[in-house]
Amino acid sequence: MKVAIAGAGAMGCRFGYMLADSGVDVTLIDGWKTHVDAINQQGLFVETERGSRHYSLPAMLAEDAHGEFDVVILFTKAMQMAEMLQKIAPVLASAKVVMTLSNGLGNIETLEQYVDRSVIYAGVTLWSCELEGPGHIRATGSGNIELQPLMSTDMTTAGRLVEMLNHAGLNAELSANVLLSIWKKAAFNSVMNTYCALLDCNVGGFGRRPDALEMARTVVREIVQVARSQQIPLTEEMVMHTVQKVFDPRESGEHYPSMHQDLHKGRLTEIDYLNGAVARMGEAQGIPVPVNRLLTQLIHAKEAQ
Ligand code: NAD
Repeated sequence: MKVAIAGAGAMGCRFGYMLADSGVDVTLIDGWKTHVDAINQQGLFVETERGSRHYSLPAMLAEDAHGEFDVVILFTKAMQMAEMLQKIAPVLASAKVVMTLSNGLGNIETLEQYVDRSVIYAGVTLWSCELEGPGHIRATGSGNIELQPLMSTDMTTAGRLVEMLNHAGLNAELSANVLLSIWKKAAFNSVMNTYCALLDCNVGGFGRRPDALEMARTVVREIVQVARSQQIPLTEEMVMHTVQKVFDPRESGEHYPSMHQDLHKGRLTEIDYLNGAVARMGEAQGIPVPVNRLLTQLIHAKEAQ
């Protein structure tokens, strides 16, 4: 399978080098020229627990995207996806799979505006990565991928996709209800990303607050109501179980969620695809969502500072 990764930031580069290292023909596509030039000139520099090395793989600018690819993996932030899809229109036409593993709610709806539903795959991943600078990532820890075709019954393609990802060590499996996993992760991020960004603390710092669980539950309760209105069988326990688990410093207590990092670096956050998406959907359905609305406003206020 020939693969293009559109949005070759932290995660796109991590998937890119792992796939390329397993023998897959991978092309990285990104809009950051300095980064694209660095990858083409020196290779992608990857730091891991086992050492560091350069990986040679081609990169192209999104506005020049061309060629035929069997699989396009989108790895922009949620709010960047529509613009990326417009730029890479020439490579979307021949793709048999267009997959999003980005965080947040609404990514599938964005994809549906640009590609046929029959090629859409959606999922969630617990892999993580940091972009250190142009052509340079730090890829530590391990993860997995849960994915599902939106409507395709072409199980041969789905099977080949999973096989390719697993051959690269990406631990992928087909899910029977990926929408539930997407909502579960979005609910978790709507608690952890948002509170840690607002309180300027890491996960463990938030977890040590005596009222942390109550604060988390207030957000999650609204999300569960909204999820149910979308026929997603999310429960409070599903989300709270993961919330409680990560407060343990042996888990990811010392980790600063990406929204915290985005605010610190003066970048926009994915808030409109987390609490903001919940608030929009809830209000449209007449479900009270004052907490998620307020948290969205507070993060936007921080972005504007
Ligand atoms: P990132 O910001 O590192 O990468 C996004 C890349 O897309 C950048 O290189 C940027 O230049 C490019 N891009 C954005 N808009 C573009 C456009 N219009 N045209 C061309 N290029 C464009 O982001 P990331 O950390 O890799 O995250 C990607 C997604 O994965 C997000 O939804 C994030 O929440 C999710 N995620 C990230 C991690 C992590 O550890 N980084 C873990 C799990 C999930």
